[in-house]
Amino acid sequence: MSDTAQKYDIPFGRPWIEDEDRDAVMRVLQGHVLTHGPECKGFEDDWVAMMGGGYAASTSSCMASLHLAWMDVGVGPGDEVIVPAMTHAATVHAVALCGATPVFVDCEAGSGNMTADAIKAAITDKTKGIGIVHYIGIPCDMPAIMKVADAAGLPVVEDCAIAVGTRIDGIHVGLFGHVGCYSFYPVKHITTCEGGMIVSNNEETVARIAKFRAFSVDRTYSERKVPGIYDVADVGMNYRMSEMQGALGRTQLKKLPEILKRRKANFEALKAGLEEIGAIRVIDDTDPRYTNTHYCLIAVLEGDLAARRDDIILALQAMGVGTSVYYPHPVSRLTAYKKRYGYKEGAYPNAETISDRSIALPVGPHLGPDDMRDIVSAMQNAVRS
Ligand SMILES: *Cc1c(COP(=O)(O)O)cnc(C)c1O
Repeated sequence: MSDTAQKYDIPFGRPWIEDEDRDAVMRVLQGHVLTHGPECKGFEDDWVAMMGGGYAASTSSCMASLHLAWMDVGVGPGDEVIVPAMTHAATVHAVALCGATPVFVDCEAGSGNMTADAIKAAITDKTKGIGIVHYIGIPCDMPAIMKVADAAGLPVVEDCAIAVGTRIDGIHVGLFGHVGCYSFYPVKHITTCEGGMIVSNNEETVARIAKFRAFSVDRTYSERKVPGIYDVADVGMNYRMSEMQGALGRTQLKKLPEILKRRKANFEALKAGLEEIGAIRVIDDTDPRYTNTHYCLIAVLEGDLAARRDDIILALQAMGVGTSVYYPHPVSRLTAYKKRYGYKEGAYPNAETISDRSIALPVGPHLGPDDMRDIVSAMQNAVRS
């Protein structure tokens, strides 16, 4: 890198917290209702309004939502569940925690998503469910996947952790399968510090999961006529969201249209700039049915650049450009799963390419057009150094 290289301040992710968000949290603390209250209920209602349909229950994280989802499906030892190799460990942990066996499927190179055909090829007599992930805001082809799933009678759990606002023909992801799960971890589209949501088109499914989320107590707090008296009909969890988080989620959600607008503009500017450099392939969607929500920009390094990925990341870091890797390994290559099932290098070639040769670049609402120009300059510098 030359001595004249600029120094930027471009973090990969930065939660967008304003006075409105802080005030909402403080209002909860000024009262006495810290859980089981109107803020979580309000957040759930606002979420349904944003999606334009369905039912929603707030949870403590996306991992909690995913665990609730597979507990509700009822998978266990001896059952197989299809999952993508290219995802966050949480997608697979939720299946493994239930005692079921994850069956990994490679993604498509262009979108990072699993295809309906690849899923179909992985179905066996033991398959009891399909876990899909909408990679970095690009939807999987849910109409095609649901056709395969319905023909085989298999429930689909959608991990929408990084696909808030993602739609197919106007229908929000998470509403195609049995349930959809969301994350409000700080770097995701919106944040509640930690937090999640689980949604479904089926009211009974959400009602059942909402009970399971709160120890499987048969009556909610407000439904108890005699305080303290309730029954517990099942073994359950405590995966609830707090009122502070619910209040924060509501103010965050108001910013979503602006967040998605900025992400799209940033993504398009950055993509155009990077493609000028050459030997960089940007993961994107090309389907006119899709509304992509640009969680980040995945730059896949090709040719001579591919082997220099980690050095380029370090050079970008030295110039003050924050990056990440989504995701750093096919989950089946992580020790926890390699130990159980073994791993053959080359088994998931498209996922391996993304893990080993790509850089995730920021396009979040904390950044604007100047930052995108700076990232392109930094990348030019890093590639030449
Ligand atoms: C971040 C992420 C999760 C985990 O979300 P938490 O809310 O932190 O539990 C799960 N799945 C995917 C695809 C993610 O990106």
